[in-house]
Amino acid sequence: MADLPDKTAALIDWYLAAVDAAELTDKRYPVKGMNVWTAYGLSARRNLDAVMIREIEATGSRAVEFPALIPRTEFVKESEHIKGFEDEVFWVTRGGGSDLDIPLALRPTSETAIYPIFALWVRSHRDLPLNVYQIVNTFRSDTKTTRPFLRVREIHFFEEHTCQVDESAATERVRSNLAAFRKMAEALCLPYLTIRRPEWDKFPGAFYSLAFDTPVGGAQTIQSGTVHHYRENFSRPYEIRYEAADGSQRFVHQTTFGLSERLLGAVVAIHGDAKGAVLPAAIAPYEVVIVPILAAGAGEAVLAAARGYADRLRRHGRRVHVDERDDRPGAKYYHWETRGVPLRLDVGPREAQTGTATAVDRLGRRSTVSSASLESEVHGILLDFDRTLRERARAAFTERFSVATTLPELTGSKTVRVLAWCGKEECGHAIETAIAGGLLGTPEEELPIPLGDPGPCIACGSTETPKWAIAAQPL
Ligand code: ZN
Repeated sequence: MADLPDKTAALIDWYLAAVDAAELTDKRYPVKGMNVWTAYGLSARRNLDAVMIREIEATGSRAVEFPALIPRTEFVKESEHIKGFEDEVFWVTRGGGSDLDIPLALRPTSETAIYPIFALWVRSHRDLPLNVYQIVNTFRSDTKTTRPFLRVREIHFFEEHTCQVDESAATERVRSNLAAFRKMAEALCLPYLTIRRPEWDKFPGAFYSLAFDTPVGGAQTIQSGTVHHYRENFSRPYEIRYEAADGSQRFVHQTTFGLSERLLGAVVAIHGDAKGAVLPAAIAPYEVVIVPILAAGAGEAVLAAARGYADRLRRHGRRVHVDERDDRPGAKYYHWETRGVPLRLDVGPREAQTGTATAVDRLGRRSTVSSASLESEVHGILLDFDRTLRERARAAFTERFSVATTLPELTGSKTVRVLAWCGKEECGHAIETAIAGGLLGTPEEELPIPLGDPGPCIACGSTETPKWAIAAQPL
């Protein structure tokens, strides 16, 4: 039961230790960056998927599933796309004992798997919009240091792909995706900023890319999702055409929306504390853990009360676990705190006798709940827990930005930096060098700190077209 490293002083060390201690993943699988989803981690992941599915299906999107292998002939049709991915694709070149005629890419993302089939599905304007998503594993042969959930080589990935009648319908779909992500982030109690990526950092083949970035401490951020507008950049090479109402043939405009297990990493990084992970109720494998405190002579009554409470809460749709292991209560408290369980209910002889339970939430707040109103009281405590997480994260979020007016100020930044940028790529790279990170781009929404008009470009001093931009380091 070693203490975790200090979160403020050594965020990444804390993160790696907290993920291990919570047993969300097992990194000992003998392929780098391909980790085992443990029972606990997989349960959190499925709950995260459920949040994504609920919000995307509310916008009319439907699930599909495409194969993991993509023929090289399809993979290379969009030139920027192949350029962007060629360094990190795993290739399957042999089948049994013989070389394949056409090598197969293990999908790093699925545009090139899906779009040849979209070309068959889309015929008429009546087939549009086509909004589908899949939740699959994607693969990237990343040679950099891997980190659980944040940088892995087998990625649990959510991707929506859509076809729209024209550019403005596609822009509307982008807006709908932004609204859907707003609701997902609300469930995860996760603050973020929507940022338009600079040209050199947009998705390969995209017209533009928007990303969701969450500052996690110091100058560091986690990119937890992206939405891209493709215009006709893919529909032309893949010949995704439809007959318009006037009889003319037109190319569809496309969008995509991508999320991944990084969201789980962001949740751990944002909410966790000195005791370990803190999970919002929406994704916690167990929302409630009941700890029976067995005393001589009262064991049976205590167990009966604990199990009875669990049954009732489960019938109410709660994910509940009764920890009946033969261990000290203190050890059990520690065990579930490390794993981020939102609410613990302690049931001892006194509670069993009076029809109550002692509630302790993961933020350490205690109260007594009564058997008579168990379901509604637990519901109220969990709502309040999430609300507090959200407020706490939001308060930290606003502290994590500051303005810089000169390049040297970016070196050794203690916060994410807001700065004036003229839009030129060479100035962008100068900014990236100075902060030893990335120019994330220009915010699409208001920043949480007061700002006037941007002054001259921080790199070249130009006063012509400066915009506020964000620079940070990836965690
Ligand atoms: Zn400039």
